[in-house]
Amino acid sequence: MPGRLYVVATPIGNLADFSQRAISILQQVDVIAAEDTRHTRLLMQHHAISNKLISLHQHNEHKSSVGIVAQLLDGQDVALVSDAGTPLLSDPGLPLVQLAREHGIKVSPIPGACALIAALSAAGLPLTRFIFEGFLPRTGSARRAFFNERVHETSTWVFYESSHRIEAALQDMLEVLPEDRQVVVARELTKLHETIVKDSLAQVSQQVHDDDNMRKGEFVVIVEGAEEKKDEGLTEEDKRVLAVLLKECTVKTAAALAAEITGQRKKRLYQAALDISADD
Ligand code: SAM
Repeated sequence: MPGRLYVVATPIGNLADFSQRAISILQQVDVIAAEDTRHTRLLMQHHAISNKLISLHQHNEHKSSVGIVAQLLDGQDVALVSDAGTPLLSDPGLPLVQLAREHGIKVSPIPGACALIAALSAAGLPLTRFIFEGFLPRTGSARRAFFNERVHETSTWVFYESSHRIEAALQDMLEVLPEDRQVVVARELTKLHETIVKDSLAQVSQQVHDDDNMRKGEFVVIVEGAEEKKDEGLTEEDKRVLAVLLKECTVKTAAALAAEITGQRKKRLYQAALDISADD
């Protein structure tokens, strides 16, 4: 019988945020695959867990996964952990889970802390639908392009950001999104200096600029979705934008660009573009 792979969430700050089940699994498995073995050893010491550790990080995970799957096929149980929170979420582990599944090995999650879910749960923004964007691009121009593509996004969206870039990211956002858009900056969740700020983009960005402490630690940023456009058909302005674009672009490109500019549905714009082209 092959063993089982357990994907185990670990705390994102407060070491007490670790379930009894997670502790038992880490004790019981034959080996723990950890992103940083020294880091995980500290967590294990805190919870009096002693077990064998092997390393599986961003730079060795393809090679390491092959060896781990061989161990699983040999009947050993393995736990996968990352430095903080839920593995695979902006963390290593995808190749291992994929390879294990390809070999018919059972993969079980041991749920627990996750920075984005913790932040969302306390943010007070609608969560019927949300989009997780991981980490943002690192350069200003790529970030602004990224924000541009999301101006009309109606779901709540959420991303991870580092202390080095939090101020620049909010500044770039302010150049692209309306300044009254609600934004939540959640820093150092579950830790001593936990801070959750919710305000307009302009205010939050100013606060992060003014207060040195607001640029320290680990961050989750959540952005309110754009107001949903009522399905009332194209406005005169939408049609004007489309007509201008059609002078330079194909129907398909004009419709796609107009959708980005106006927030209207691409399908509707495509049909209108066909009508305009047929009239010309
Ligand atoms: N797998 C982790 C999870 O489940 O949240 C995330 C790993 S990712 C490499 C690390 C990023 O998550 C940090 O740069 C930060 O953006 C966010 N993060 C992790 N812990 C956090 C905390 N305590 N407070 C706020 N953000 C945190």
